Amino acid sequence: MLTILQLPVLKDNYIYLIHDPLSGETAVIDPAVAQPVLDVLAQRNWRLTFILNTHHHADHVGGNLELKQKTSCTIIAPQADTNRIPGIDRGVCEGDDITLGEQAIMVISTPGHTSGHVIYHFINDNALFCGDTLFSMGCGRLFEGTAEQMWQSLQKIKTLPAATQIYCAHEYTQANGRFALTVEPDNADLKQRMELIHQLREQHLPTVPSTLEQELATNPFLREDSLVLQQTINMTNQKPEAVFAKIRRLKDHF
Ligand code: ZN
Ligand code: FE
Repeated sequence: MLTILQLPVLKDNYIYLIHDPLSGETAVIDPAVAQPVLDVLAQRNWRLTFILNTHHHADHVGGNLELKQKTSCTIIAPQADTNRIPGIDRGVCEGDDITLGEQAIMVISTPGHTSGHVIYHFINDNALFCGDTLFSMGCGRLFEGTAEQMWQSLQKIKTLPAATQIYCAHEYTQANGRFALTVEPDNADLKQRMELIHQLREQHLPTVPSTLEQELATNPFLREDSLVLQQTINMTNQKPEAVFAKIRRLKDHF
């Protein structure tokens, strides 16, 4: 069993620290900043083994160099982003295996938000660290990829076990849910989930992680095959990629 800590930083980012008690190894996902990570390492007496970056944006790699300098950790990041990940030691791509102690981590390539974006699936504990590809009830904006690419990337996530824990990199859930209700106003799971989300946010509590099962029921970007959703946005009898593209466009202008 891994110990997973969630650190809220900057405006709405989450950094995750993952510790394997058996081996004593520790990983950090997308350290936007270094100090909160260093503080936890000191408190817990953990040594940082490696950084995993999902993509090159500053709010995901900002702490890389300071952490590397102060902990001598290794930096693992998308191979395609070798030239724009500070301090990268090892580039990874689709299907590569990484291990934290005995824990297997599978790399899945998910272009769309950025061209090199990858996500990390900790297989034994069934935890997915998906950066800015999938959000709770949302998905990343298309800065360097096409809607078709992002749709393909999300299809890969859909094939994982329904119980997979979804650890995304931002607390965007409430705003995402408000949009989701505009394209699926009668989705009972969505309405119910939003009530819980409002309660959590009132208390400034995180809404992340969720499960893939919850996302499949409430995230419009995984629900382009819903006939009711298609009817609501006037996209019946279209290719799923096209339905997805329309949902993404509507969200961009929401
Ligand atoms: Zn990003
Ligand atoms: Fe981000």
